[in-house]
Amino acid sequence: MFTLVLFQQDLRLHDHPALFHAAENGRVATAYIAQPLKSRPTASDVWRHHALLDLQQSLKKKNQTLILRQGDFVDEVLKLIDELKCDAVHWHRSYEKERIEVLQKLRQALEQKGVHVHEFEGTLLLQPEEIVNGKKEHYQVFTPFWKRYRGEHIPSSLPEPETIEQGESAPSLSVDDLGLLDSVNWYDDVLAHWKIGERAAIDQWLHFREEPIANYAEDRDFPAKMSTSLLSPHLACGSISARALWASGRSMMQSEQYTAKSDEIDSFLRQLVWREFSYYQLHYNPDLDAVPLRKEFEAFPWLNNDQAFVEWQKGQTGYPLIDAGMRELYATGFMHNRVRMVSASFLVKHLLIEWQKGYEWFKETLVDFNIANNGMGWQWVAGCGADAAPYFRVFNPILQSEKFDGKGDYIRKWLPELENVPDKYIHAPFEAPERVLEEAGVELGRNYPFPIVDHKAGRKRALEAYDVIKKSK
Ligand SMILES: Cc1cc2nc3c(=O)[nH]c(=O)nc-3n(C[C@H](O)[C@H](O)[C@H](O)COP(=O)(O)OP(=O)(O)OC[C@H]3O[C@@H](n4cnc5c(N)ncnc54)[C@H](O)[C@@H]3O)c2cc1C
Repeated sequence: MFTLVLFQQDLRLHDHPALFHAAENGRVATAYIAQPLKSRPTASDVWRHHALLDLQQSLKKKNQTLILRQGDFVDEVLKLIDELKCDAVHWHRSYEKERIEVLQKLRQALEQKGVHVHEFEGTLLLQPEEIVNGKKEHYQVFTPFWKRYRGEHIPSSLPEPETIEQGESAPSLSVDDLGLLDSVNWYDDVLAHWKIGERAAIDQWLHFREEPIANYAEDRDFPAKMSTSLLSPHLACGSISARALWASGRSMMQSEQYTAKSDEIDSFLRQLVWREFSYYQLHYNPDLDAVPLRKEFEAFPWLNNDQAFVEWQKGQTGYPLIDAGMRELYATGFMHNRVRMVSASFLVKHLLIEWQKGYEWFKETLVDFNIANNGMGWQWVAGCGADAAPYFRVFNPILQSEKFDGKGDYIRKWLPELENVPDKYIHAPFEAPERVLEEAGVELGRNYPFPIVDHKAGRKRALEAYDVIKKSK
């Protein structure tokens, strides 16, 4: 058998069922088909550029050439099949609406040509159809969903193939040709914060499981503590597999060496299942990224003030925790989860800007962007998703800041202009006496903004807007 393996959001060799089974069955060719970008490259496109370079190198060590092509996905694969004369094509299942349609079209075209097609699970721990409740319905609420995972058998992860027999190859573009890097170089500064590729992802996990995981359950909400795994961009492009992480986490829980960390590991695995839950929701709601799951939100009276949106994007809202988060995002392509929740809530509730605009900004700037997590994250914050935070629960950006960045370490890291503001006022500099600000070198309206909306007034306005759709229910 000669099999063509199509890489997509699974840029790794370990636990890659499509590749593993192709290598077991005979000769192999590997390809990545890039669809032309519809807009300027985003942070996750730049990440993918480097993850592809890494994959190319890993395959080369196995005497494999990764064939790169660009164009219409179906046409390009069909052309390759004619050039290579493969008997079979392997790929991993996708949960994204557009890609599902493309893969269905491809399957039909290949089967018409008599080419054998095999689709494997390469993204999730379990496929959505496997998880239904006692009434054979899909879960709408996270906690019972998570409990199911604890008791389920998760298929074990596969090793990387020891050898891969190279079949015929075909001409390839270079990674540069795919146009994943922007013509203006804003990305070197972002990339300086990261190591990209499969080895880097595995090393990141090994580091995390030895040290930061020790206090994960307690510390994961405190952005200055840097106690989360930072694996999300690796998971998004598939440089590390969720099943491999699950297997490693579960075996740690069973080992005496890690007994003391058992709750922490469990807490980490729970977050991995949040990722599952978001793909699960995407599976049942293919427009999760654009259409509110709670239909009454379609009539929400958004204000959509453009100026306020730009101030939010630039981290110039006058609320330090939010501004620190937005600047962290712009500088590194990442934002801590707690701060994502607070800054997203501020956009949707205090500024009454529709969540889809926030989704688009995160899509452009996050290195870990993926439709499922971003869609669920925004719908959760906006109160219109499955098992979402109720709309009327409006995060107070000052209290959140006091609670999760008490000493202001995170704020000072990203807002150097507030470095000398005393702890007491770091969460709300506009409440500080003029003399204190003067001594700290802060002049509101000059080197740090006044709040663009008063918290109490913003909260009241948000609740009044919610009343409009509540009445129309
Ligand atoms: C508005 C909003 C938008 C978001 N957009 C994205 C996105 O585009 N891509 C993305 O990967 N995550 C997104 N998240 C979820 C979460 O913020 C990140 O997954 C997390 O911050 C990644 O950091 P980490 O890898 O250190 O997480 P850890 O705490 O170490 O968690 C381990 C893994 O579990 C998964 N995970 C953790 N928290 C969540 C969560 N709340 N929802 C779903 N999966 C989770 C991630 O894959 C993560 O890598 C979003 C959250 C919000 C509130």
